[in-house]
Amino acid sequence: MTNGPITSTAGRARTALIIGGGVAGPAAALALRKAGIEARIFETHRPGTGSKGGPLTLASNGLSALRLLDADAGLAAEGIATPRMVIQSGTGKVLGTVETDPDLPMCLTLPRGRLADLLRERAAAEGVPIVYGKRFVDAVDTGHSVIAQFDDHTTAEADLLIGCDGIRSVARRLVDPAAPEPRYTGLIGLGGYIDGPSGVPSTGGSFHMIFGRRAFFGHLSDGERTGWFANLPYKHLDRDAVRETSFEEWTRLMRAAFADDAGPALDLIDHMTPEGFIPASPLEDLPHVPVWSKGRIALIGDAAHATSPSSGQGASLAAESAVVLAKHLRDLPVERAFAAYERERRSRVERVIAEAARTNRSKAAGPVAARFRDALMPFFMARFATPERAAWQHAYTIEW
Ligand SMILES: Cc1cc2nc3c(=O)[nH]c(=O)nc-3n(C[C@H](O)[C@H](O)[C@H](O)COP(=O)(O)OP(=O)(O)OC[C@H]3O[C@@H](n4cnc5c(N)ncnc54)[C@H](O)[C@@H]3O)c2cc1C
Repeated sequence: MTNGPITSTAGRARTALIIGGGVAGPAAALALRKAGIEARIFETHRPGTGSKGGPLTLASNGLSALRLLDADAGLAAEGIATPRMVIQSGTGKVLGTVETDPDLPMCLTLPRGRLADLLRERAAAEGVPIVYGKRFVDAVDTGHSVIAQFDDHTTAEADLLIGCDGIRSVARRLVDPAAPEPRYTGLIGLGGYIDGPSGVPSTGGSFHMIFGRRAFFGHLSDGERTGWFANLPYKHLDRDAVRETSFEEWTRLMRAAFADDAGPALDLIDHMTPEGFIPASPLEDLPHVPVWSKGRIALIGDAAHATSPSSGQGASLAAESAVVLAKHLRDLPVERAFAAYERERRSRVERVIAEAARTNRSKAAGPVAARFRDALMPFFMARFATPERAAWQHAYTIEW
């Protein structure tokens, strides 16, 4: 269903180019369609070439945003319902439990790459054209349209362009050549899935997160599939070394990191395979991107507001921003819509990013700080990790 503009259509966009077919791109295309704007997605990768991805948890707020777009229904079949997070120390002590508010959509964990596949499939089913193998390199704002340029020397033109091209966005450079680079968090992220027996039983909907003595480990299992991730602190990052480190070497490093912790990490490492293992990557964020739009080009998702994975919110924020931007484009001329979108979104996303940065510091704590963390966390979790305290994040809903 499409909703038309509510007053005059003067200055309103009718067509859009969307760069990137991850989470933000398909969500934006669906939201724009709902707003009466025809969108096309341009994605650099070809279908089936990306990795399935490690476990990603979609929070209630992200699912609410996707529900507005009728894009949530197909996700549950591919994921593991995750009503609770159990936070533990390396000794096995439970530091706190975070339950999904039963009045909100239940959090869902699914492979990161599959989430993007499913959202693209949903957009395609709604008639959104998706052009693969198109690497966006530049754009010209003519004043009344945008012409996107791709590395195969082809172009595409529409009333506006939305950069959904992730944390290393090319569109971000176009709206602000001085835009900041992603910031390294001090943690390397590893993760993946184990299909079939994993040496650990079903976690019954709990995602266990362990602040270990040397590193952080998370896992959940429905008995048939087990998703896991590890965050290893490395102060000084050597990107080439990270890229070149083999699966065998990572499992050796993880065995050493988790050797003294209670919990299932060592059993799971024994069951990991190179096929289910997602290449390690430095975890990064963008605490403040000063410029989100220029002329007829705007940014959403990680291109504008990348949070580190520790928030469990990056995909949810991308979906929310897609809906909010489309809502304003439905009602306002392009530049006013971009400004209204930024006003509505900036403080929320930057607060999430800042909270995740604090969590990252706890994950990379030294032995003394870790003892304080483990002693104080139960107190803070009991007071601050309640559904009421988390409502600003999880109960966020958008009035369409
Ligand atoms: C290890 C890890 C774990 C995470 N866990 C969670 C979690 O539990 N919960 C959560 O909510 N979030 C999580 N996130 C964050 C989440 O994945 C991102 O916030 C989300 O994917 C952002 O969506 P996006 O569409 O903005 O960017 P992306 O998903 O990165 O998509 C960008 C797309 O643009 C394409 N692209 C890039 N450049 C170009 C170009 N020049 N031309 C054309 N196409 C281009 C890319 O190929 C890609 O398909 C995690 C991230 C990581 C790295």
